[in-house]
Amino acid sequence: MIALITGANKGIGYQTARLLAEKGATVLIGARDAGRGQRAAGELEVRSVQLDVTSAESVASAAKWIEEEYGVLDVLVNNAGIMVSEDDPAAPSATPVDALRATYETNVFGVVAVTNALLPLLRRSAAGRIVNVSSGLASLTRMTDPQDEFWAANYLAYNSSKAALNMITVSYAKELAGTAVKVNAADPGYCATDINGHSGPRDPEQGAAVAVRLALLDADGPTGGFFEDAGTSPW
Ligand code: NDP
Repeated sequence: MIALITGANKGIGYQTARLLAEKGATVLIGARDAGRGQRAAGELEVRSVQLDVTSAESVASAAKWIEEEYGVLDVLVNNAGIMVSEDDPAAPSATPVDALRATYETNVFGVVAVTNALLPLLRRSAAGRIVNVSSGLASLTRMTDPQDEFWAANYLAYNSSKAALNMITVSYAKELAGTAVKVNAADPGYCATDINGHSGPRDPEQGAAVAVRLALLDADGPTGGFFEDAGTSPW
């Protein structure tokens, strides 16, 4: 099993790579900085590939390299993501449009670019799995519930980018229905990583578990869903 995880040089992506390697997958660490990718790959005794999801050139050359090396891809975990510091949860109207653009470049357009580049290789797999690392903050159900723990986390750029990612997940799942490729979104929960100044109560390994589960789904497993530890996440 060949598995590519984007943004896997640290955080939840790194733990996803580690856990998939433990399960016997041939893991490719995607990292926008080649040096950081090589360091992480060295620690995990896996391979790395330079992959900046916002660069069409980088995406194309990573896809070409994987095709030449392996000819197939079984698992794609779209994990790379950013949260811009300009967001003020108390005043989303103060978020500059450029902050939204930057967020969408990585969290939305980057996922589409990487997925499109790798879909021909995933279609060659007997059990292709795409996992989009989303967030509880993407959930319209949760964000409209004043009793929900995330109610106050009103981040305009981040939350809307992940909500778009959820719909993108559904769109690809519908396109690929009837093929061997399953597409699901994962909510890792609030984990202590660089993205949030290590404020989350969970560790990144716990956050990686749901992505790993979705990466290893059986043929009768779901597609087009949104999942967290406990099971299904509300859209
Ligand atoms: P980190 O900041 O620790 O890791 C983010 C990773 O994404 C890094 O490897 C980073 O690379 C990479 N990355 C950022 N931009 C790009 C790019 N243009 N191309 C390639 N890689 C890129 O955060 P997390 O591990 O927490 O985040 C992983 C995913 O989990 C994200 O999608 C995030 O939104 C999601 N998530 C996280 C939660 C949490 O509580 N931590 C909760 C819900 C979702 P570099 O080191 O070069 O910056």
